[in-house]
This record gives sequence, structure tokens and C-alpha cells, in this order.
Amino acid sequence: MNEFQSIMDILMPELERKVGAAPAIFNLWFGEIELISLTESEAVFTAPTPLKKKILVTKYISQITSVVEGVLGFPVEVKIFSVDELNRKPEDDEDEDDDEDEIPSPTPATRNDGREEIISEFISDNSNKPSLLDNYTFENFVEGSSNTFAKAACLAVAKEPTAYNPLFIYGNSGLGKTHLLYAIINYMKRNHPKLRIVYKKCETFLAELIDAIQSGYVSDFKDKYRKCDVLLIDDIQFLAGKEATQEEFFHTFSALYESDKQIILTSDRPPKDIKPLSDRLKTRFEGGLLADVQPPNFELRIAIIRKKADELGLSISNEMVEYLAERLQNNIRQIEGALKRLFAVTSFSPSDVTKEKVDEVISIIDPGNIPTDAMIERILTAVSKHYGVDVESIKSKKKTDSVAKARHVAIYLIRTMTSLTLKEIGGIFDRNHATVKASIDYVELAIKTVNGYEREIKRLKKEIKG
Ligand code: ADP
Ligand code: MG
Repeated sequence: MNEFQSIMDILMPELERKVGAAPAIFNLWFGEIELISLTESEAVFTAPTPLKKKILVTKYISQITSVVEGVLGFPVEVKIFSVDELNRKPEDDEDEDDDEDEIPSPTPATRNDGREEIISEFISDNSNKPSLLDNYTFENFVEGSSNTFAKAACLAVAKEPTAYNPLFIYGNSGLGKTHLLYAIINYMKRNHPKLRIVYKKCETFLAELIDAIQSGYVSDFKDKYRKCDVLLIDDIQFLAGKEATQEEFFHTFSALYESDKQIILTSDRPPKDIKPLSDRLKTRFEGGLLADVQPPNFELRIAIIRKKADELGLSISNEMVEYLAERLQNNIRQIEGALKRLFAVTSFSPSDVTKEKVDEVISIIDPGNIPTDAMIERILTAVSKHYGVDVESIKSKKKTDSVAKARHVAIYLIRTMTSLTLKEIGGIFDRNHATVKASIDYVELAIKTVNGYEREIKRLKKEIKG
């Protein structure tokens, strides 16, 4: 334990996800690393042995760097030393590279060809070794109206495999689909330890299949998948357009389905929108239970922020909890990322989580996300410039044609680019909500009927977003 333990607690699960190796492999190389120093430009880690250091430096440094930067929110150079090396006196520094021969071949499931690392397989093995993926459980999945059905469906299947088969979970990125899959796995490992569970990201499934075809081991590939009791494939939308893989997947699916094995799939869209997808696969996917996860509403966002801040040990005022919930509406991953960064930046100099810090962190993780006040300013400035009408006039009661047109556009843009209500927008222009509505109708009609108008509005939006 050292002063950086809390940062390590954040880094390790992120690293495990990024590296994607089986837990045993991950623990082998990363299990005992320690963060020993952290400055604005440098993060220094120790590894227990020269070999482990070497593996980390040669194979994983770019992933480590990207995770550390992601968590901290600013660029750093990552340095790794072996414990020996730090304790050693400078003169006996020569044999640095001695351990070259001990480097074992790359971890079996790892493909280090620069693509995103993809390996996440775990076949239930009854070993009780804790894995960092244990963090994703039903217990720590915060429930609200947007995800309650999906969670209930997952829990039902976890309790009683084949209750719904297949179970197809869909929804935008960052809304908890992978979390739910892991929760199912964790639940099953605990309660049905004999089940053989295979979890794959769809990309991994594709890569493996291609490898199997190229190296002539297709039957091994088939065997492996057809022997499992529960198959979970994450992000199945990646099958779109891959005919040969769809064909293979269809056979795997059917073999498992017909022998009453549970299949659970996730996707960023419903089956009907995965295109092109063979009709028979679409029919299969739709033949079980479809459950969607929607963006969280305000209350759920608040609950999630509170819970995650709590878990991190980050103290944050109610006002800032609400401010974050207002700014980050569509993606729970982003909410989590923001809290981790806030935690990292405030743990250097334990000052409060201020609005300025929140704004800064959001501008890093979600650059297109501009605070409402600033967004209104930008819109008024852009409209003023574009139509040659000054901001004062736009906000005034003047009714000349050119001013009214500019005002309509400003109102329309504020409505579509912020989450303000008609009434709140009325407040800016000192008008009632019916007038605001009329402006929006005017622009919507013009978009449909006036040549080039839509393009003009789009260009303005782009300019405003920067
Ligand atoms: P998806 O697979 O839908 O893109 P993830 O499952 O990876 O999203 O979720 C992104 C992050 O948000 C994860 O760290 C996950 O734990 C967290 N998360 C998502 N939904 C919830 C929730 N309802 N309660 C707690 N954490 C959540
Ligand atoms: Mg996912």
C-alpha cells in the first residue's frame, strides 16, 4: 500500500479491460506492479522482477500509457523499473539485457499487431481466483426505468439458463450492456459453477474464425464453440456484412440452440437494423427475448454519479453531482470517466471538485459537449455574424424581416443544440413559450420547403460546434 493505491485501484480494472488477456495472464504480468511516483509529466511504476519489467516495457507500454493518460486526463510518459534496478547501485548496471532469453512467447490469446486488443475469453474453470471483471455484477448495476427490463431479463437468464433464448440486449454504447454480460457470467460462476461459459467480443470471434480458416483448424474452432453451455457474444453488430462469418455463426448458433444451450448477444442496435444480416440470422436473433437499454434519465444519472463517486472515495457536492448529471446525459461510460479523472486531478492537491474542474474534465472526455451558457453565446454570435444582425437586436423585440429571421434561427438552434425547454428559451428572449414554438415551426418548415436552407442550418451548426 502506498499513497497511490487509490489510483492503482482505478488503473487496474482499466488496464485489464484494455489488455484483454485472460485473468491469469493479466495477473502474471500486471499483478504486482506498483505506482511509485506521479508528476505532471511522468508516471513511474515498479515491477517485481526484471523479466516482468521487460514484458511490460516491450509488449504493453503503449496500452499502459494510454490507460494512464485516460485516467489522469493528460499526457504522461510512463516509466517502468524493476525493483532490483531501483535498489541497485549505478555501477552494476551493465547486464540490463541479460534476461532476453527468458521472454516466453507472447501470451497465447494475444495478437499484438496494433489493432485494439481484443481477447476476452473466459471459460468457467471453477478456480476461485478473483478477477477484476468481478467488478461488474448485478449488485453494482444501478437500476432505473431505462434499464430495468434488460437487467431483469439478464438476471432471469443468469438464474435459470434458457429462460429466454436467445437473449438479445441492445442499446447505444456506454449504457451497460457489457456490464450486464459480465454480471451474468459472475452470477453463473457463483451459482452454476459447472457451466461452461464462453464470452467473446464479436471482433474476437471473427478474428479467431479467420485464423482457423487460414491455419486449417476450423473443426477445432467449431468444437470449442459447440461444447459450451452458455455463449455470450458482445457487440454482435460487427457481423454486419460478413457473409462467411454469418454463415459459420448461424451453424454455431443453431447447434447450441437446438441442444438447449443459452445464447446471449448484445448489439448497439436491434436485429432489424443490423445490415446486411442474413434473414435467417435475423429471425434467430428475434426469436428469443429482445431487451433494450436506453439513455439514463436525470434521476438515474444522479444515482449512478453518487454510487460511483462513493466507490471511488471522491467527495463531491450535491450541486456538482447535479451539474454533472445535466452535462453528461447519454453515456454512463463518460460519466464514469469524468469521475475518475476528477478523482485523479483532485487527489494531487485535495481541493474540492469545482465547476471549473468539472468543465475542464468534460472538455477532455467529450470535446463536443459545451456548457449551455457557452453554447447560447456561441449560437448568438454565429447567427449574428451569419445574418449581419447584432446580438442585441436578435434578443430585442424588433420585428423587421431580417431580424425576425435571424431570431427564428437562433431560437431553433438553441432548442436543438441545448436541452433547454421552450419556457427557458423564452426567458432568454423575453417571450412566451408559444412565440418560441412559432419560431421553431418557422425554421422546421423552411428546412422542408426552401432550397438550400437545410444546408445553411447544418453549416451553422457545424461552425458553432467548432
Ligand atoms: P456498453 O457495453 O453498453 O457500451 P458498458 O457495459 O461497457 O457499456 O458500460 C460502460 C461503463 O458504465 C461500465 O464501466 C459500466 O460499469 C458502467 N455502467 C453502465 N451502466 C451502469 C449501471 N446501470 N450501473 C452502474 N454502472 C453502469
Ligand atoms: Mg460493450
